[in-house]
Amino acid sequence: MRRKLVAGNWKMNGSLVANAALLAEIKAGLAVAACDIAICAPAPYFAQCQAELAGSAIAWGGQDVSAHAGGAYTGEVAVSMLQDFACRYVIVGHSERRAYHAESDGLVAQKALRALLAGVTPIVCVGETLVEREAGQTDAVVGRQLAAVLDVLDAADLARIVVAYEPVWAIGTGKTATPQMAQDVHLALRAMLAGKNPTAAVEVKILYGGSMKPDNAAELLAMPDIDGGLIGGAALKAVDFLAIVAAA
Ligand code: 13P
Repeated sequence: MRRKLVAGNWKMNGSLVANAALLAEIKAGLAVAACDIAICAPAPYFAQCQAELAGSAIAWGGQDVSAHAGGAYTGEVAVSMLQDFACRYVIVGHSERRAYHAESDGLVAQKALRALLAGVTPIVCVGETLVEREAGQTDAVVGRQLAAVLDVLDAADLARIVVAYEPVWAIGTGKTATPQMAQDVHLALRAMLAGKNPTAAVEVKILYGGSMKPDNAAELLAMPDIDGGLIGGAALKAVDFLAIVAAA
């Protein structure tokens, strides 16, 4: 049985003051959680997350990582820097990075590998646009995105990644994939993982992301291949984030 993971993606939101209040409220409201919990914060707040969350049931991580180990890459953040602040996770290939920063499947794969080799768990995001879904290309698109990552990983390392299915048309739009729509894609992704390593495929968590909220979380999380959520907007409100954690 896979333990669920609820991960908040704060995106480019927050401030020292706002984060302190949000984290305090989340910690105060957290019952004994039956799932893993993480917060992916902007890099300048890693130290704050570490100070506030160390020793709690909540892990923290980043939203992106450089494919390079270090050097002359202005503005990038190396995985060693995430490690300096004990980040357990890092999101790679979020659709906002693919769309606004022209990240290719190959680059995303290199980022995932860089994280994995350092012992930081990559949360590999895949997802189709509305045009792609309506053209019947969903499986082909997410398959191509995942295949690029699988191509660079050792089969033995497969169990150490997390996959997140985030249909682009559902992100920040209030439109959610129905539980069955999401389940169908998750099942297809797991079948692909099984092609690389059948044992590991059973263990890999596949999260759903895209307008997951307290009122739809339980039905999504009840699907057999939905192993948690990657939460954007609802992760910025403690009550909403806690409600999703409670549903997992
Ligand atoms: P929303 O939950 O705001 O739709 O964002 C989802 C997302 O992109 C998480 O990475």
